[in-house]
Amino acid sequence: MSIEQLALQGGLDAVILASDVGWLLMPPQRMDVLVRLAALARLDVRQLEPLQTPSEWVFDRSGLLYCPRCLFLNPIDVSVPRWLRQWLDPWAACCKEHKAALHYVGRPALQRCHNFDDVLRVIGRLEDEQRWRERAARHKANGPQWLREP
Ligand SMILES: [Zn+2]
Repeated sequence: MSIEQLALQGGLDAVILASDVGWLLMPPQRMDVLVRLAALARLDVRQLEPLQTPSEWVFDRSGLLYCPRCLFLNPIDVSVPRWLRQWLDPWAACCKEHKAALHYVGRPALQRCHNFDDVLRVIGRLEDEQRWRERAARHKANGPQWLREP
């Protein structure tokens, strides 16, 4: 199910008024929308309030940043990937957990994502491509692994 379908079925039309990078970066929602979202997710609305994106973070962007390790390896539940609110901070540059530079996913890729599974697929492909580029660069710099002396 897409975020748009969920929003329409749940009467959450305000939710689909997201930013130019898609539904991942949404402006703060009204309390009545939060209450409906909480009911849909079977959560207490007080759990959603701290997740609101500050309005000063919501503006046109060329893409978003993320930490691939934190995205795919949630220490609370490894079977549940997550998107951290701190990555929406326009001044974030590195992962607070891993002390590594955040990776970038561009707006066109994000705009094609209709739900979080789509985001994970797109970023998984980006990460695979990056690993191949790094491997090719190492191969070009060092030659094939089997040619190197022990
Ligand atoms: Zn991280």
